[in-house]
Amino acid sequence: VNRSDVHYFGAGPAPLPTAVLEKASQVLLNYKEKGVGLCEISHRSPEANEILADTKQAITTLLDIPDDYEILFLQSGGTGEFSATVYNLVSIWVEKKRAKIAEEVGDDQAEVLKRLRQVVAEELKLDYLVTGSWSLKASQEATRLIGAKHVNVALDARKANDGKFGVISAEDQWSLTPRASGGGPAFVYFCDNETVDGVEFPAFPKSLEGDDAPLVCADMSSNFISRKVDVRKYAVIFGGAQKNVGNTGIAIVILRKSLLPPSSKGASPDLLRELNLPVGPIVLDYPTIAKNNSLYNTLPIFDVWIAGQVMAGLVDAYGAKRIGGQEEISNEKSRLIYDTLDKYSNVYRVVPDKTVRSRMNICFRVHGGDADKEKAFLAGAEKKGLLGLKGHRSVGGIRASNYNAVSLEGAKLLVAYMEDFAKSA
Ligand code: PLP
Repeated sequence: VNRSDVHYFGAGPAPLPTAVLEKASQVLLNYKEKGVGLCEISHRSPEANEILADTKQAITTLLDIPDDYEILFLQSGGTGEFSATVYNLVSIWVEKKRAKIAEEVGDDQAEVLKRLRQVVAEELKLDYLVTGSWSLKASQEATRLIGAKHVNVALDARKANDGKFGVISAEDQWSLTPRASGGGPAFVYFCDNETVDGVEFPAFPKSLEGDDAPLVCADMSSNFISRKVDVRKYAVIFGGAQKNVGNTGIAIVILRKSLLPPSSKGASPDLLRELNLPVGPIVLDYPTIAKNNSLYNTLPIFDVWIAGQVMAGLVDAYGAKRIGGQEEISNEKSRLIYDTLDKYSNVYRVVPDKTVRSRMNICFRVHGGDADKEKAFLAGAEKKGLLGLKGHRSVGGIRASNYNAVSLEGAKLLVAYMEDFAKSA
């Protein structure tokens, strides 16, 4: 089967632009005619530095990232950032509290520690909005690292939906940690797009805005660079590259610089140990990675190059519209697919509620989830070169992942197939 005969709707790893892969096959053999391939050069070479700078520039241009934000590349995957957000932001929270107590009690270290222990026991909360499998996993990792009593699941979307993901309850139903008089959570965490469940936040939550807004961390692994983002609303945005941005191997973190030294410091490892709080691995330590321009250890520069090429392609394609251009296309493709699913609602049922339907991962059932009919749907699609449509193993059904590298033509072919299948049913 030729690549050109196929449209691939896999959820991640996901399709990449063919032109980027063709160029990749050349640079793997011989980068810039140096006789050495891109996976062979030093991550500290001028070439690698140039790739890093260009990739940062492309993402900055696309998402209009302000100067007071830092871009980091890590090998953590998306999952590693579930832990990194906890290690880094808890450490900053603790240090802030320590400094405040020290101001009040002066040099009496034993007294500082005593009071700090009490503050940690009573006030340390991380708020999680659990709207699908990935934010659930992130909240479970936080619980594993710092203990259930410090993790506040401010929203478990399953509760309002018969135990299943697929809705996001109104914000006045969320039980966020109160922010009055300098309190509030160390951070609020959510997953902007739930890849498995097909649930996407339609907009930034209003209750996380305002003068006393908490630090907000968002997982954008599966909708990165697919719509405009007001970066300033977030303390940390992260995503594994392997869906919209590039191939497996790196995660991208966009981080508010005021969370880095000299503006913010984390607690010392000794203090964290005293408080029975975890000390994170150095490769997840944002200050260390930032200070070293993401080159504290060996960064897979080829993966950064791929991401840079993909993003430079979007910068070229959309010009002044920047990511807004991609947003229009993403919206159009998902609209076509959802319209067809709704039109043939006798055959198809979209899993999540209409208000939170993901533009990136379109999850639906065929004939109420009849196993044979869903198999037939997938087999028929495969015959037409429409691949990767099987739902996640944990939920079953069909999932059409509509990432940036899926063309409008691909989406239209899927729509035509869905119509034919529905008519012949
Ligand atoms: N977050 C989201 C939204 C995801 O879709 C995924 C993976 O599919 C992850 C996190 C985990 O990423 P990784 O497999 O890179 O650790």
